[in-house]
Amino acid sequence: DFPMNTSPAGREIPDLNTGVPTAARVYDVMLNGKDNFEVDREVAAGSLAIMPELREIAIYNREILHRAVRHIATEGGVTQFLDLGSGLPTVRNTHEVAQEVAPDARVVYVDIDPIVLAHGRAILADNPGTTVVTADIRDPRTLLEHPEVTGLIDFEQPVCVMLCGILHHLLDEEDPNGIVAMLRDNVPSGSYFFITNFTRLSDEPSSLDLEEQLLEQLGTGRVRTPAELVRQFDGLELLCPGIVPLPLWRPDEPVLDATTVAVRFMTGGVARKP
Ligand code: SAM
Repeated sequence: DFPMNTSPAGREIPDLNTGVPTAARVYDVMLNGKDNFEVDREVAAGSLAIMPELREIAIYNREILHRAVRHIATEGGVTQFLDLGSGLPTVRNTHEVAQEVAPDARVVYVDIDPIVLAHGRAILADNPGTTVVTADIRDPRTLLEHPEVTGLIDFEQPVCVMLCGILHHLLDEEDPNGIVAMLRDNVPSGSYFFITNFTRLSDEPSSLDLEEQLLEQLGTGRVRTPAELVRQFDGLELLCPGIVPLPLWRPDEPVLDATTVAVRFMTGGVARKP
């Protein structure tokens, strides 16, 4: 049912092999989901031993996703979303937030991990504005030409490309910035990019320890410097307030303490293609 594939970078696309941890399932552990296995829980436990704030950080990542999608669908007037590295369905997925403010909104969920397709199909079965595709963003051309993507997204119209918590799962040699640039060059002006990432904290050694643990146990998990992350937005116009700690991006509630690791370890922003 789920063909095993090899990515252009040579890394295998995971099958539903429960003996190998995957990013989607480790993140599911952080969000208290049920679609994970012992191997995933072991990686999550290792990460939490280094940075106990990771569960809170995962929630902040979901919350900025909700605020960004709502903002782009309302103020931005863009109602087609390409959610790349969407992860396992969880509480309040992109289409639920978008369709709340724009009932006609269309969302294509894309993930390399076939477990996302397996669980997403069931949830989305009766929502004609959504679909789930198993694909590798390291091959962006194939992704953009995928019939299920082009069946729902009209690339003549502005689109929102979501890269929420995914680019840190690409190694430097896989050229994450080149992938963003390729996507940028193939969507119309007026399109939006929403990106979040692990971020290296110069005063917090645990941010580097976590990178070491994830690279060793999961094979991915780069913790990049703010200077590296800003390059992901090349050629795009960042919306105010720029690339900031996740809870500080257009918060619904005031953030009382922005000095904690929980607040600062992931940063993100929204930008518009001019
Ligand atoms: N976007 C969701 C969020 O922010 O809540 C989930 C983020 S989860 C931390 C990262 C996801 O990216 C995982 O589900 C993983 O399978 C997916 N992913 C990693 N590398 C990928 C690739 N090359 N192509 C597509 N998806 C990928």
